[in-house]
Amino acid sequence: MPSFKVHVTKDYTVFCAGHFITYEGDRCEPLHGHNYRAAVTVEGALDENAYVFDFTVLKKLLRGICDRLDHRMLLPRDNPRLAVSEEGPSLFVRYREKTYMFPREDVVVLPIPNTTAEMLAQWIGGEIETALRERGATNLTMLEVEVEESFGQSALARRELFR
Ligand SMILES: [Zn+2]
Repeated sequence: MPSFKVHVTKDYTVFCAGHFITYEGDRCEPLHGHNYRAAVTVEGALDENAYVFDFTVLKKLLRGICDRLDHRMLLPRDNPRLAVSEEGPSLFVRYREKTYMFPREDVVVLPIPNTTAEMLAQWIGGEIETALRERGATNLTMLEVEVEESFGQSALARRELFR
C-alpha cells in the first residue's frame, strides 16, 4: 500500500509576535519578535474522495491558529522562572530584577514551559489535533507542525494520531 501525506504552508500561515526565552537556568533573552511561519503535514489513508485531508480545510485551520497569535506577545504559562500575574487590565511578568508590564489583551499565555519554536510547534499541533478530532478525521495517522522563526531556522513537532 502506498502511503500519502499532504503539506500546507502559505503566505498567510504566518504570525508576527513578541517573545523571550529563559535558558541555561539563569539566562533570559531580551524581549524581541519574529515573523513566524507555520506549516502542517498530515499522513493517513485516503478517504472516499481520494484525499488524505482537504487542503482548503487544513489551510483554514492553520490560518485560524496563526491569527490567534498574530500581533501578540507570547508568554509561557508553565515556566517556573517567570512570575506571571494579572492586575486589572495589565499582565506583569517578572524575571529576577526584570519586570515587564503588558496590556492583557495584547498577550497570549500558552500552556508551555518556554516559547521556543519547538514548543510553539507542539502547541499548534495540539490545537490542530483537537480540530481534526472534532471533524472525525480518523483516517489520519500522523501530524507534523513546523514553525520557522527566521529564514532557514525552524523546529518540527510530530505526533501520532488516532492510534
Ligand atoms: Zn526569539
